[in-house]
Amino acid sequence: MTPFSYRCTDCGRTFSRDEVRYLCLDCGPTYRPGMPLVGVLEAVFDYPSIAKSFDPARPDWDLFCPVERQYHPPIQVGNTPLGRVDRLGATLGLSSLWVKNDGLNPSGSLKDRASYLVVAEARRLGIDLVVAASTGNAASALAAVCASTDTKALIFVPEKAPKAKLVQMVLYGAQVVPIKGTYDDAFALSLEYTAQRGGLNRNTAYHPLTIEGKKTAGLEIWAQLGYQVPEAILVSVGDGVILGGVHKGFLDLHRAGLIDRLPRLIGVQAETSDAIHRFVTTGVYADAANPTTRADSISVTCPSNAHGARRALQESAGETLTVTDAEILEAQATLAATSGIFTEPAGATALAGLVKLQAGPRRLSGSGPVVILATGHGLKDVDAPLSRISIPPAVEPVLERLSL
Ligand SMILES: *Cc1c(COP(=O)(O)O)cnc(C)c1O
Ligand SMILES: [Zn+2]
Repeated sequence: MTPFSYRCTDCGRTFSRDEVRYLCLDCGPTYRPGMPLVGVLEAVFDYPSIAKSFDPARPDWDLFCPVERQYHPPIQVGNTPLGRVDRLGATLGLSSLWVKNDGLNPSGSLKDRASYLVVAEARRLGIDLVVAASTGNAASALAAVCASTDTKALIFVPEKAPKAKLVQMVLYGAQVVPIKGTYDDAFALSLEYTAQRGGLNRNTAYHPLTIEGKKTAGLEIWAQLGYQVPEAILVSVGDGVILGGVHKGFLDLHRAGLIDRLPRLIGVQAETSDAIHRFVTTGVYADAANPTTRADSISVTCPSNAHGARRALQESAGETLTVTDAEILEAQATLAATSGIFTEPAGATALAGLVKLQAGPRRLSGSGPVVILATGHGLKDVDAPLSRISIPPAVEPVLERLSL
């Protein structure tokens, strides 16, 4: 671990590590549920010390980690494969296209990275309850990580979350509270819960270490490409914390002088859940009034990290686009059938965005590697792809009757 302090991403005030827990002490009190978070904290490390100690030949990733190793949960999170997808790349005019398969995390999504670090922090603080609101994956991730420790998980999720995700959290032993309402309702309730009844709140962006956890995906991409900065990384966007986290990973590398430029981040949202896209393109924030997308993991009325995501896109010369559910489900099928990688609709949203981008005037040149972040496993929600495919009918097991 390298020493760090927290800096408010809105007013710039800095705090020592244990002086503050969730939001800036000045800006945080102005936050009201139903608005994007204000006063989100950013971990600022002693970068000269990282620069002095980091050796790519023997990389010590603990240098970038804000919680001491002794508190880390025993479950193995991250270090997911980054593989070339040449068959898919050829159809998109990209000679170096890669997929980072984060569905291969223990609970099947990138959310394990954030839960891992927040549970480590709870252990450091001696808090035995971690509370989260989630569309489903953050909760199953928290439940899985807690199951490997003696920390308890309390979870608020919309009752309509996909069944596999609900099964996961219950089986992992979490206290699960399905909410008659949306993810945004669950978010507000969980904040009230921890404010009044205790526990450490793991809500995305609200706890600054969720961003730090997710940044490890960015650090890994750099290392797995042979310490190369890709031309672009495509990320599906709900609350905007994965986008902000991947950016933070490269920002840390840049601040430590290990890279000389940032990768372009391309944030892809579902058409009905497009609050960040509209915020970035118009400069004016407004909720996504009716986020009905089948990509449940990115179905968000009011993205908690809207401000941070916008900043990440500006700093990385990135952009956003939106895709329809039909485009998402088609991309999910294309990725599965050309690479063997089965990712949930939210994971396939990044590819749907790339397909759309490559068909238009702003297509990527392919001058460097392009990375698609596949954020969750396809088995998390089989009903979504079943809406556009059918399983062949059963036949008698008689060879003569087979017309194949
Ligand atoms: C949470 C999630 C996302 C979106 O991440 P945000 O930080 O909310 O933008 C994308 N894909 C999957 C599978 C997720 O679980
Ligand atoms: Zn502030």
